[in-house]
Amino acid sequence: MRTVDVVIVGAGLAAAAAAKRLVDAGLETIVLERFQLPRHKICSGILSPRGHRFLLENFGPLPRETLHDPVSCRGVTFHFPSMVSMPMDFFGGTTPHLHRKYADHWAIQRSGAEVHDQTSFVGLQDNGDHVIVQAKRMGEPVEYRARQVIGADGPSSPVVRAVYPEYQQSIPWFIVGQKFHEIIDCPLDEQYFHFWFHPELGHYTWSHARDGRQIVGVGFKRGDNFARKHANVVKYFHEKHGVRLGEPLDDEGCGENFGPSLINRYVFGKGNVLITGQAAGFLNMIGEGMSCALHSGAICGEAVVEARLRNRPMQEMYRRMISSEVRRTSDQWNPLKIAFDRPHEADFPAALMALGWRDRAKVLRDMWRFVVLYKEFKWGRQIMQAAMQRPLIGGYSMKRWL
Ligand SMILES: Cc1cc2nc3c(=O)[nH]c(=O)nc-3n(C[C@H](O)[C@H](O)[C@H](O)COP(=O)(O)OP(=O)(O)OC[C@H]3O[C@@H](n4cnc5c(N)ncnc54)[C@H](O)[C@@H]3O)c2cc1C
Repeated sequence: MRTVDVVIVGAGLAAAAAAKRLVDAGLETIVLERFQLPRHKICSGILSPRGHRFLLENFGPLPRETLHDPVSCRGVTFHFPSMVSMPMDFFGGTTPHLHRKYADHWAIQRSGAEVHDQTSFVGLQDNGDHVIVQAKRMGEPVEYRARQVIGADGPSSPVVRAVYPEYQQSIPWFIVGQKFHEIIDCPLDEQYFHFWFHPELGHYTWSHARDGRQIVGVGFKRGDNFARKHANVVKYFHEKHGVRLGEPLDDEGCGENFGPSLINRYVFGKGNVLITGQAAGFLNMIGEGMSCALHSGAICGEAVVEARLRNRPMQEMYRRMISSEVRRTSDQWNPLKIAFDRPHEADFPAALMALGWRDRAKVLRDMWRFVVLYKEFKWGRQIMQAAMQRPLIGGYSMKRWL
């Protein structure tokens, strides 16, 4: 059995950031990844400026193979049923369009941690002064002994399931699916990620260019018909935006824990096990999760280092240090913050003010109708209540975190 300071489960961006902090502090760290690396990750790859800064500062300039074509993104365009479109540029210029398969692999290699791929986490036993991690490497059982374990294993986190068996039933989920189309004619500006606030299309509808194809994606509830929802969106794009696409060449989908950051119900771990990244519930509005995965991962790594150095309780240290990231992520959903502050990294208030007053009124009405759509959702009432209870200034109750 291999004995190390820390085992991290998952080789995504949260893991890379946590590993970087641990390795820099001299802690022997092993990363377990269930797939062979580099592994595919379903993601649009639109990086926020804050995520970009983190990658540059911690891992250096991005090599060309970590980027899709177009290689950069200027920002996000919101489209409304009243046919007003609102392009919003990122603060500080364009950001790289990440190819997650190669970007994540590059980051985890740059972290300096030892990586064991094709090694699936199966379970753990926290014995107080150490944790035994059970895993399977290519079907064969393998065990590790570590002082701490970090779950950076994404939305359906097996580490969260091991520590809190009931948690994943207690948060909002929905499914996202996307299809890759040949482009016949697409007037949507390929320099932007496009998002529709349209109740008839669904609660999460997006499109963008990638490597000569057009991605059309929809969010839906379990039991909804993906093919029908997607076909409806393609028809709408054609009729309203003049987008002409060939038959889809490929498709993919997954479940998203689109809720903990919305209702301030994060999960951070117990004893010697810490949870970070999207596994902990970090996901920004419009599904942007890379920047908060990187920052929460780094904070998690720092909390382990600090707690060991000062001989302080690990969980207390992590919760105290992570509260700034919680506030930042949850503020993105706060209507008051959106209206009067700048919780996002593209300038919504400026884009709104750039419209004529008639269009501004249409946008505000369309956004309200879109928000009302959430009432039909199983979690709608809870989400609306959480949003309305949030103070304009001030924090978020730690009592809601596990
Ligand atoms: C369709 C879609 C589009 C998106 N677009 C964007 C976007 O444009 N911009 C953005 O910022 N975010 C986007 N996101 C969100 C973003 O991809 C995630 O929030 C981010 O990847 C979370 O990073 P993470 O490191 O926490 O987890 P992940 O990237 O999910 O990494 C977790 C890792 O853990 C591994 N793992 C899981 N189980 C085990 C196990 N049992 N044993 C070992 N390893 C395991 C997984 O294989 C994976 O490699 C998108 C998500 C989706 C679904």
